[in-house]
Parts: sequence; structure tokens; C-alpha cells
Amino acid sequence: MLPVSEPYITQREVDYVVEVVRSGWISSEGKFIREFEERFSAFHNRKFGVLVNSGTSALILALRALDLPAGSEVILPSFTIISCALSCVYNGLVPVFVDSEEDTWNMDISQVERQITDKTKAIIVVHTYGHPVDMDKIYEIAQKYSIYVIEDFAEAIGSEYKGRRCGSFGIISCSSFYANKVITMGEGGICLTDDKRIAEKLMSLRNLAFVPEKRFIHYELGFNFRITNVQAAIGLAQFERISEHINKKIWIGKTYTKLLKPLEDAGLIKLQAEKEWAKSTFWMYGILLNSELGLDAEQVMKALSERGIQTRPFFYPLHLQPAFRKFSWYKVVSLPISEKLYKYGFYLPSGLTLDEEKINFVVEKLKEVLK
Ligand SMILES: *Cc1c(COP(=O)(O)O)cnc(C)c1O
Repeated sequence: MLPVSEPYITQREVDYVVEVVRSGWISSEGKFIREFEERFSAFHNRKFGVLVNSGTSALILALRALDLPAGSEVILPSFTIISCALSCVYNGLVPVFVDSEEDTWNMDISQVERQITDKTKAIIVVHTYGHPVDMDKIYEIAQKYSIYVIEDFAEAIGSEYKGRRCGSFGIISCSSFYANKVITMGEGGICLTDDKRIAEKLMSLRNLAFVPEKRFIHYELGFNFRITNVQAAIGLAQFERISEHINKKIWIGKTYTKLLKPLEDAGLIKLQAEKEWAKSTFWMYGILLNSELGLDAEQVMKALSERGIQTRPFFYPLHLQPAFRKFSWYKVVSLPISEKLYKYGFYLPSGLTLDEEKINFVVEKLKEVLK
């Protein structure tokens, strides 16, 4: 089975991990944590980086660090991973879901303004599958209404908006180093910021909000979101190849686009648009079936699986998630684009170990299934 994604690991990861284990610094202190935080934040032109144990934790911590009043509203796309909404709910905040654009699959910014109320305090921006969000438009709204922008660039490590790297836009920018991301630590996440007070707060909150002077007296409710030096060692080895990973992802994306364009021109599928101001790293290469084909994603994914190709469905829209229905803030709404994306969209094998032959194989099998 051709996997949808697999990490790309070399001898360097092994060497760094061995070094950590031999040194005894296997817990949440150590030089690899500090070095990763410094180098990853510098790569994004940010002053501070705070490593945590997952991308989900990074988002939860980011919203906690902003200290928003209970019941504040946070605007976010419906078409994304549940982590984004969890970060609101776990902090006593209300997620407000917005539909996607037809072409980029990112949150439709033209629908954001009408969702703003007196309670709106933040927007979570997500660069879906690597395609950057139009940040100028986001900032126009955020400034007009004085709301924070939290950036989730877990799918857009290496992507650029108008020549500026994703991860450099939020008051706090969050990412993940899960195994299928552009660089991995197995599990891991980070918050980037330029604000020293926020950085200190994030550092305190990830470590149970200990205060140095009075070790076991706590003035705030913290979390144990610490990461280990072992994970950071894997991460640093990966980071030292980050440009190679980014370039490979872009090559995979461009190769798929070239081979799949005829299917798009024939009206069988739609590809994610790439705006002229966007540089996408194509974290995952998604396709959307034409709804008139009479086939949905589930059927095509099954047919591909029978041909030895693993795929993944698109996100199930957050505004439909059963887990949210019991909350008093839950509203029944219809967000047709994100619903369509779920029904007809899925992503193809996109891992760093793909080569031209494998990509050709995927495209040929897809053609066979869609005939
Ligand atoms: C992967 C991902 C996350 C969650 O990261 P974990 O490390 O798996 O918790 C959050 N946001 C987005 C957009 C992601 O793609």
C-alpha cells in the first residue's frame, strides 16, 4: 500500500537521539529544546518560540495566554481540524464558524465581517493544506475591530504570503510537528510570538504555571504541555533539512498539478487554486471530485485503496461535529462549501518519500477509477 504520508528520517535523527539519551537529558530540559526554539523562530523572523507537546496544545495555550473574557467569540473556518475549535471551547470561548472559499478552500474572508459582534475577540487563521490565507484582508478586519489574529500554520510550514513566511503573521502563531507535517518530532508543537510578556506567559503555562520564587504556590491554572529533549533532538535534525523538505513538497505538488490538470480541464475534478500572491508547500495534495460525476469521495477512495493507494478524507466541517451539539452556543447553520469539500474531497499520497514513478502510478490509477 502506498501510504498517504510517511516521515522522512535519516542518520542525523538517530545520532541526535543517541546523544540525548547518552547525556541523560531525556526530559523537558535540554539543549535541543532551546536550540530548536531559537532556530525555528529565527527562520520565521520571530523573537520567541515556545515548544509544546502538540499542535493542539499550542493552540490551547495560545488562546489561554491572551486572557480573553469568558464567553468571548472567536472566528475560525469550519473546514479545519477540530484542534482549532477545541482551543476555544477548553478556554471557555465560543467558536464561530465561517464557510470556505470555492477555490482556495480557506476561510471565506468576505463572510468574516458579518460574524463580528461586541464579543468577538480573535480570529484563528488556518492556511489549508499549505495555501496561505490572504493576510492583508484579515488584518484590515482585525485592525478595524481591534481583534487578535492567531495563526495556525501547521499545514503551511514553508508557505509564503506575498513573499513573507507563514508563521510570521499572528500575535501568536501555532504549528505542529506531528509525523505527517513538513518537519516532525513524532509529536510536538510550537507557539511563535514577538511579545516578550506573551512568551513568558506561554512558558509558564506549559509548565503548570510554577513561579520560580515559591515553587509550589500557583497563581494561575497551567498545563503540562512540556515536550522532551528527545523529541526536540528529532526535530532539530529535521529542521536542519527544512529547505530540502519544503522544496520536495513543492515539487510533489507541482508534479501532481501538471499531471492532474487535464482531469481538471475535462471537468472531472477541481484542484486547490494557487493565487498569484501565494507560495504553497502543498502539505497535502487534495482534489475535489466534480459533484456531477455521480461519485463521492468515499467511493473513489475505496476504489483507490483496492488499487494499493492510501488516501484520506477531507475534514468534516466543525459546524456539524456531534461533539459540539450539546453546548448552549451551538447553532444549526448551513455552510455549503465546507459541506461539499467534505463530501467530494480527499487527499492523495503526499509524503516526502514520493518519487515521480509513484506519483505517476497514483495519477494513472485515479484516471482509471474516474473513467
Ligand atoms: C495537524 C494540525 C493541528 C494539530 O496538531 P497536533 O500536533 O496533531 O495536535 C492543528 N492545526 C492544523 C491546521 C493541523 O493541520
